Order: sequence, then C-alpha cells, then structure tokens
Amino acid sequence: MKTYKIAAIPGDGIGTEVISAGVDVLHALAARDGNFALEVEDFDWGGDYYKRHGRMMPENGRDLIRNHDAILFGSAGHPDIPDHVTLWGLRLAICQPFDQYANVRPTRVLAGITSPLRKVDRTELDWVIVRENSEGEYAGVGGRVHQGLPLEAATDVSIMTRAGVERIMRFAFRLAQSRPRKLLTVVTKSNAQRHAMVMWDEIAGQIAAEFPDVTWDKMLVDAMTMRMVMKPESIDTVVATNLHADILSDLAAALAGSLGIAPTANLNPERDFPSMFEPIHGSAFDIMGKGIANPIGTFWSAVMMLEHLGEPQAAKRLMTAIERVTADHRFHTPDLGGTARTADVTEAVIAAIQGAND
Ligand code: NAD
Ligand code: MN
Repeated sequence: MKTYKIAAIPGDGIGTEVISAGVDVLHALAARDGNFALEVEDFDWGGDYYKRHGRMMPENGRDLIRNHDAILFGSAGHPDIPDHVTLWGLRLAICQPFDQYANVRPTRVLAGITSPLRKVDRTELDWVIVRENSEGEYAGVGGRVHQGLPLEAATDVSIMTRAGVERIMRFAFRLAQSRPRKLLTVVTKSNAQRHAMVMWDEIAGQIAAEFPDVTWDKMLVDAMTMRMVMKPESIDTVVATNLHADILSDLAAALAGSLGIAPTANLNPERDFPSMFEPIHGSAFDIMGKGIANPIGTFWSAVMMLEHLGEPQAAKRLMTAIERVTADHRFHTPDLGGTARTADVTEAVIAAIQGAND
C-alpha cells in the first residue's frame, strides 16, 4: 500500500482551524479508500513561532519538508507582525525556492451555493486561473533608501524572464487543452507597461503556435474584471501574472460565493520539489478563534492534492462529499449566510465520505 508523507503547516489565524479540519477529512478518506495511507507531519511554523524564535520557520525548514510528497498549508499572517514579514518568511520562503511556479486556482459555483451575480447559473461559471507564481511583480527585487527623510525613495521591480513566461504559458495552454472548451484568455497590461508585458504577449503568441487546437484571446486586466462580472460564461482558462492573478482570483472566489471556498495548488510540475496546496484565503483576523471559518477551501485544496498525488478516485470521492454537503444549507458557515460551524461542516463531509458507496 502506498503511503504519502504530507507536511501540514497550519500557520496563523484560521489557518490552524481549517488545516486541522482538512487533516481529519483526509484521514477519513484514506480509511474509506483503503488503497493508500497518509502520514501527516505537523509543523508549528508561523507567527507564534516567530515570537519565540525571531523567524517564521527554522533555518533548515525547507530541508525538513523537501522529501514530503506534498504540503498542506493554512495561512501566514499574524495581527502583531507586519504582513510582508509573515508572507516572505513562510509562504514565499517555500513557494519560491521549491520553484512552485504554477499556481492553479479553479473556480466553480458549488451545489447549493448562490453566486452574488444575479443571473449566473452553475454551468456558466467554471474557470481555472493560472497564476505565474515565481517572478513578476512579486520577485522581491527593490529597495528603500533615505528612510524617513523627505527624499526617501522605494522601488518594487517586476522581473519577467523568457524562461519564466514560456513555462507558465506552456502550462496554461496545456491545461486549457485538457478542458472541454479548450479556451484560454491571456491577461495583460501591455498598453501601459511597455516592456515586460509586451514580451509576455509576444511569448503567449509563440507558445500558442504549439497548441493549434486551443482558442485563445488577450485581455487587459482592467477589462478582465468587467468581463468576469458581465460575461462570466465567456471565460474558461485564464493565465495572468503574479499580481494580476492574485487580484483576479479573489474576485473569482467572491463571484463563486465566498473566499472561504476557494482552493489553490502551488505546483512544481517537474516534481523536483513537493507542491503545496492551500485555501486562497488568509488568516481572517476578524473571525479567528470563533470556530466559524469555512473549511471548504481547504477540503477542495485537498482534492487538488490527491489529484497531484495520483489518487483520482479519492479526489473524486472527496469532491462529491463536499458538494453533497454544500448542497445542504444547514451546513453553510456565516460567510455563506448560514449558522454552521467549522466542526459541523467537517463532520458532515466525513459522514458523506463514509456513506459514499461508489
Ligand atoms: P483574509 O482572506 O484573511 O480575509 C478576508 C475576509 O474574508 C475576512 O472578512 C474574512 O473573515 C473572510 N474569510 C476569509 N477566509 C474565510 C473562511 N475560510 N471562512 C469564512 N470567512 C473567511 O484576507 P486579509 O484580511 O486581507 O488578510 C488577513 C491576513 O492574512 C494578513 O496578514 C494577510 O497577509 C494574510 N494572508 C495570507 C495569505 C496566505 O498565507 N496565503 C493569503 C491572504 C492573506
Ligand atoms: Mn491573494
């Protein structure tokens, strides 16, 4: 029997609440499946670790998880610590050195959930956003000089490389090709940003030639926000830069009902390093510790993890269980307008896994 080693990094805020729910669900799934086992190792890295040790994770932290099969991540972000410290000290400290350059963010309106878009029905909003996850606006290049003086200056320099753009375009075209509509929208801003984004567009055109069966179009990011709201049915697969896709995917999550539902995979497609799976939401300071965080984003991320591990049957079983539960309004957490608690949703999903007779 195959045993997968999973590194669980709950992090901060509601990250700890949703990851423990996710781990419970994964164990129930492995027991139900019987063909694989999960060995989950917990790492207490994050804001509290920072307060004790002055860093978000140990210096050899990446070595401790390098040989795991996958990483399940909660959220980095603590009320007492600046956000750029927590983000760069943990999440980006894993994503970038592990070269998880393809961030995949599916969006669908799940059974029982109503989109805030009045007219949209469930079949009209079925997207996958591919986010460039290794460079661009979040390359971390820049600096500050003359701090506190009137002549203070600061830069954040966006770096795009041909190799980086080619690999994310190829990944996105291949993903679009694998979906029934074979439709890709390349998001850009090459009207205002006249160097890197122009190269981005050129490379999109070059890679498109390798995928003659994929229909693709190009859209400025500002116009894309409008299209997502006004013509959601015209969109299928989307590729965008690190910053653009970060923003578009929060909008996508909201249009699908709640930020608490949305999953993501940070993939190293070559499998040189473990990939990382996480809900797209953050620590949610306003609701942390209350036991009402929606765990569905984490469960759906676990589905993506199982697909990546090569357990499609377990992935399908979990997704079916999730939608069986979202279809029932009694199990909607407050972000969806309900009164259910994290534990109620978790128990219901576990019951649906155990009851499934497929
Ligand atoms: P957030 O995602 O934490 O919260 C935004 C809003 O959505 C809040 O009102 C919150 O209550 C709600 N929400 C989010 N997830 C929910 C869930 N599962 N169930 C119910 N409601 C949910 O974003 P923010 O407030 O901008 O950020 C808070 C902290 O989290 C910051 O420190 C930020 O840097 C960090 N953050 C981390 C990540 C990450 O590690 N991947 C992502 C986003 C934000
Ligand atoms: Mn984000």
